[in-house]
Amino acid sequence: MSNLTGLNHELHVFEALESEVRSYCRSFPTKFQKASGYQLWDTKGSVYIDFFAGAGALNYGHNEPRMKQALIQYLSGNGVAHSLDMATEAKERFLTDFNEIILKPRNMNYKVMFPGPTGTNSVESALKLARKVTGRQTIMSFTNAFHGMTLGALAVTGNKFKRAGAGVPLNHAISMPFDGYMGKDINTLEFIENYVKDSGSGVSLPAAVIVETVQGEGGINVASTAWLQGLEQLCRRYGMLLIVDDVQMGCGRTGSFFSFERSGIQPDIVCMSKSIGGYGLPMAITLMKPELDQWSPGEHNGTFRGNNLAFVTATEALRYWESSQFMEEIAAKADKVKTALDHIIQAYPELDGEHRGIGLMQGIALEQGKAERISQLAFEKGLIMETSGTNSEVIKVMPPLTIDNEGLEAGFQRFEECVNEVMSETRKPVKV
Ligand SMILES: *Cc1c(COP(=O)(O)O)cnc(C)c1O
Repeated sequence: MSNLTGLNHELHVFEALESEVRSYCRSFPTKFQKASGYQLWDTKGSVYIDFFAGAGALNYGHNEPRMKQALIQYLSGNGVAHSLDMATEAKERFLTDFNEIILKPRNMNYKVMFPGPTGTNSVESALKLARKVTGRQTIMSFTNAFHGMTLGALAVTGNKFKRAGAGVPLNHAISMPFDGYMGKDINTLEFIENYVKDSGSGVSLPAAVIVETVQGEGGINVASTAWLQGLEQLCRRYGMLLIVDDVQMGCGRTGSFFSFERSGIQPDIVCMSKSIGGYGLPMAITLMKPELDQWSPGEHNGTFRGNNLAFVTATEALRYWESSQFMEEIAAKADKVKTALDHIIQAYPELDGEHRGIGLMQGIALEQGKAERISQLAFEKGLIMETSGTNSEVIKVMPPLTIDNEGLEAGFQRFEECVNEVMSETRKPVKV
């Protein structure tokens, strides 16, 4: 411990005691203390506007007051906190309300599985179920996909660096071009169908296709509604199950509760996590069409599938979806973000930026290095913004969906200052 004393650097404890694997704390190097709505405070009293929202786990903002109240009340009443997958009142309320508020009004019929509390747990359960039900092994995924860090999910993830972390071959998966991957004028579905139908392609018929309707980590790549519909038809034609990974894009991020609602497709299996717990508490669900629910009791298991504190806040979060008002508010804010990003792209033509995204998942794709520099400068100005894309080439705007106009405007003012600074930095040296 002697190496801990004498040094006063505020992140010293983390550097000395926590693994090198930590990442976000390197991009945002301060010690946070409290948070509310779209704001965070550090121990030095600096205030940050949050345009990152816990990577999509904080769609309803930090410490959402109604959820906090429900949580405090549940805790004071000695509500069960941990229950494996035993029946509890808190879980019953969540299941009932999820069915009434989310599934029924959308004419959806899904069984709900609690696969363990993380997104990657949900993805693993979906892949296992698809393989079990079809008796086939291969899963089709897409270029630039991100599905999580456990082996099954990594096998369907595109990123080379993350895949290499596995240390073993990642197999029983095949990566196909996402919408737009082969250029604007090429329909990748035709390309994919050739592989699926041709017995000489070397690709055996997949059990399922797993897709993000908008690839968040992969660079904010939006699949068109026509492509998604075509993908669904392709799945039906060849008897492949359609899995939508809505871990990050679900819970309103793209404007509707499920990200696939804009396309009208009906996935066989849906993975959700991140904001499903509402408060930033760990929780995940896997939705499956009832006829696919062929699990044997305990065949997929996990100690933390009964996080009742998350069930309490998740139930409270569903209140946002009782009317169309929340969706309308998201749409209005999404327009505002689009306008602000277009303004920046036009006002700084040298930036050569390309708008990406829909809903409150938008950003600008930039020449390599610029997005990371903007993120760095933004942090110095009290704005939390992350990058995405294989080469961190996209600067991402994903605030809590509950952010108000004042917060959006203040954030964009800082954002534009950063863009301005990056432009003057890159203007100075002679370009090679
Ligand atoms: C974050 C994410 C995951 C993994 O979720 P974890 O909770 O980090 O395991 C899977 N899929 C998508 C699309 C994600 O954004």
